Amino acid sequence: MLGKRIVLAGGGHAHLYFLARVGELTRRGFDVTLVDRSPYLYYSGMATGVISGAYAPDEHRIDIRRLVEKGGGEFIEGRVTRIRAENREFVLENGQTVPYDAASVCLGSEVPRSIVSKNGAGAVRVKPVVNTLEIRRRLLALGEEHPPRVLVVGGGAAGCEVVANTLALLGQLGLEAKLTIAQRSESLLPNAPRGAQREILRLLQERGAKVLTGTLVTRLGDGVAWTSDDRELPCDLLVMAVGVSPPSVFRDSRLLTDGAGGLRLDRYLRSIGNGRLFGGGDCVSFRGKALPKLGVFAVRQGPVIFRNLQASLTGTPLQEYRPQKHYLYVLNLGDGTGLAVYGRLSWRGRLSWWLKHRIDEKFIREHRL
Ligand SMILES: Cc1cc2nc3c(=O)[nH]c(=O)nc-3n(C[C@H](O)[C@H](O)[C@H](O)COP(=O)(O)OP(=O)(O)OC[C@H]3O[C@@H](n4cnc5c(N)ncnc54)[C@H](O)[C@@H]3O)c2cc1C
Repeated sequence: MLGKRIVLAGGGHAHLYFLARVGELTRRGFDVTLVDRSPYLYYSGMATGVISGAYAPDEHRIDIRRLVEKGGGEFIEGRVTRIRAENREFVLENGQTVPYDAASVCLGSEVPRSIVSKNGAGAVRVKPVVNTLEIRRRLLALGEEHPPRVLVVGGGAAGCEVVANTLALLGQLGLEAKLTIAQRSESLLPNAPRGAQREILRLLQERGAKVLTGTLVTRLGDGVAWTSDDRELPCDLLVMAVGVSPPSVFRDSRLLTDGAGGLRLDRYLRSIGNGRLFGGGDCVSFRGKALPKLGVFAVRQGPVIFRNLQASLTGTPLQEYRPQKHYLYVLNLGDGTGLAVYGRLSWRGRLSWWLKHRIDEKFIREHRL
């Protein structure tokens, strides 16, 4: 064996397959360590359902510390700030170093802070996804005084789901919807088929949301946002859902990244030039291009990471990762229906929601202890 210390940095969706199988590895003589800034991972598929109350606050919480410890591994709570690939070690915020013989990084993604002025510090970002709990908490508190004015910046899948579920919650509270969604491109869900774009626009408008497409928000203030053409959008709650980008740790560590800062990987999910460092999920770039930043991609990378980390230490052949060409994405619309998108097809209804709910529930059952 070429060493036995396996370290996972970040217990994200792409590492869950591994974390559920730590016992297999420790029984075979490997030492497994997970480093994460939090002992819990919040499953993204259910995150917006928490806003409308479709799911209880901790129903989508996975105890990653217990997962690794149950298998005989070690959990270190800490934030990775550097990767010294040449020394095969991670450096944590508190200065601690964590050495490895083989490692994988799955540090997720962040909502960029580029348009936040200092007075806009109260804005809630949709990443980490645990923040949807904070959105619900604030809506409930604000709703006790008056119908809150909510502004969601960003009309991709996350932004649209936040709007739909916020409308559902306001409806349950008997409050009039004062909700605006601002989207820089000319349509909501810009990457979805046209049918889905029309459907989500119609649905959100019918339920009382004001949809501002072709609207670029450039500045945030205290209770207000400004557009590039100086329109003022006042709000009591501001949610930022303007897309995500990889954390800066790979650039800071001088590893090979793509233009956005995602760790560049080869066909085996291995960092270019670092034979014992692998990765997956939102923070990586696969063979020169970023894959969709979706949990369904991260989760499918899990078995390849599990196998290749071992293979790199036992000298056995590595497995190639082949991203799925088509994938199903179902938006939770907060009213017991879902909008399913598969390739160029889309359909909305109770069946879509039921399907999503079944898939998510099964996933969470498999990973909760
Ligand atoms: C509101 C919302 C809803 C979504 N819904 C869906 C959906 O229904 N279906 C779908 O497929 N995708 C969905 N997504 C996308 C999905 O969340 C991401 O693609 C997925 O979380 C990526 O997983 P990951 O493994 O890359 O990272 P994550 O699952 O985000 O995990 C990253 C982990 O790394 C840890 N971490 C981060 N930085 C550090 C550090 N420096 N040091 C130590 N630990 C660190 C974090 O604590 C976390 O545990 C949604 C996204 C949002 C924002």
